[in-house]
Amino acid sequence: MLAQINQFINGQQVIGEGDVHPVFNPALGDVVSEVMFSSSKQVEQAIIGAKDAFIEWSQVTPMRRARVLFKFKDLLEQHIDELAAMVTKEHGKILDDARGEILRAIELVEFHCAIPSHLRGTYSENVGSQMDSYTIRQSLGVCAGVSPFNFPVMISTWQFIPAIACGNTFILKPSEKDPSVTIRLAELLTEAGLPNGVLNVVHGDKCVVDQLLHHPDIQTITAVGSTPVAKYIYETGITQGKRAHCFGGAKNHAVILPDADIDQTADAILGAAYGAAGERCMAIPVAVCVGDKTADALVSQLKKRVPELRVGPGDEEGIEMGPLVTAEHLAHVKSYIEIGVNEGAELVVDGRDLKISGHEKGFFMGGCLFDHVQPDMRIYQEEIFGPVLCILRIKDFDSAVELVNKHIYGNGTAIFTHDGDAARTFVNRIQAGMVGVNVPIPVPVAYHPFGGWKQSVFGDIGMHGGQSVQFYTKLKSVTTRWPKAVRTGAEFKMPNLK
Ligand code: NAD
Repeated sequence: MLAQINQFINGQQVIGEGDVHPVFNPALGDVVSEVMFSSSKQVEQAIIGAKDAFIEWSQVTPMRRARVLFKFKDLLEQHIDELAAMVTKEHGKILDDARGEILRAIELVEFHCAIPSHLRGTYSENVGSQMDSYTIRQSLGVCAGVSPFNFPVMISTWQFIPAIACGNTFILKPSEKDPSVTIRLAELLTEAGLPNGVLNVVHGDKCVVDQLLHHPDIQTITAVGSTPVAKYIYETGITQGKRAHCFGGAKNHAVILPDADIDQTADAILGAAYGAAGERCMAIPVAVCVGDKTADALVSQLKKRVPELRVGPGDEEGIEMGPLVTAEHLAHVKSYIEIGVNEGAELVVDGRDLKISGHEKGFFMGGCLFDHVQPDMRIYQEEIFGPVLCILRIKDFDSAVELVNKHIYGNGTAIFTHDGDAARTFVNRIQAGMVGVNVPIPVPVAYHPFGGWKQSVFGDIGMHGGQSVQFYTKLKSVTTRWPKAVRTGAEFKMPNLK
């Protein structure tokens, strides 16, 4: 009998009454559990519960809300191995990487432990005669989030922690591919003292998302996923009058200048292209080498090192790259290798036929490396989201910047160089939301905002840092005058403050 993954509504696990969806262990290629989707009645119950819970939670002092977060941070630390194992089992990433995403989630919780300070308003004395003015940040109500499969802990936490820290209640719809860990997070938050109904987790696909999008009691929607899904959720959300910000796909470029330290750069590119089997929105699937000499030096290193990557089950010691998340995704990624070959790119390393002994049914492939990729090829234009690196050769720095800026995606990018002037110009001119200088995956720390540009984002406000506090609150401006003020009589023109 397969384990069942339930929803979390009103402080407890509830068996879903909708469709049943298989959840795989991608290293084995076997179904290991079933996630029970929520029926529309259950989604409605979750929203009603969250709306009721909002009445009290929004009035809880920020300091008391912070205490729940402090406790939650402790519990995340205590349970990090258990949570990482859950992630690895359903996602496939190596345990160290799973721990890494949980540590990033912990950092975000730590940032929000200072929520009383983040919510402070402004105060101006004497804006008029005996008049003062101040602003306050208030919570919005029931907020909703849709999260992707690739960071089931980190991104889900980035969505619901800022919302509840700001006094909102939340409905999370995690990915149906690796949903177990979010239920455990909800349990731990409850153990930390979060009142019932403040965080709810419902499972499902487009139907459940549509119900959230069209529900009048949902105030905000945040989503992270592929660009078509992020765009759809954003556009539907805003036409339904909701505040929305949605984060989409990516094709992050690393630009390598001739003066870069090629050993260090090869290390950085290897980890950023093949870590988590390339299933990261901040992965580096494109290396743009300035000059043939730079490209030759990089390719000669990668050609040797990519076939040596230790690929295998994420829970085995010493493994560097796990399987892809599903059989469909594996087939999708492999189809791009064929596309690239047909387009005329040079396939320097072909990892398609890799088999892992004892895990023959697992969704594994080895790293693939293309050289001489051209800008009009689909393998360059489209997001592959797998362990496939494309090398483009370009004549100079300006052409490299122009190439990056022309791409439809603008999530992250990185430059490798020792030339401070070139690096500074790159940072200034590049059209991407997150930029690294000799840093391959420049995911900002929890107190700096996260978010891409162009087709990698829909909406103006980023995630985490001060941006989430802005997203999950509305401002109110208050102007006061007290009775001892001088009587000025009725005014029929626009008031000028005297
Ligand atoms: P996905 O778009 O398939 O699914 C994301 C979420 O949306 C899931 O919860 C899914 O159930 C839901 N969903 C799927 N189809 C939907 C539809 N038609 N309508 C409404 N909801 C729908 O993405 P994924 O495969 O889970 O994640 C990988 C993608 O996410 C990649 O494109 C990656 O670049 C992107 N991503 C982006 C960021 C970022 O910050 N920009 C971060 C992580 C992942």
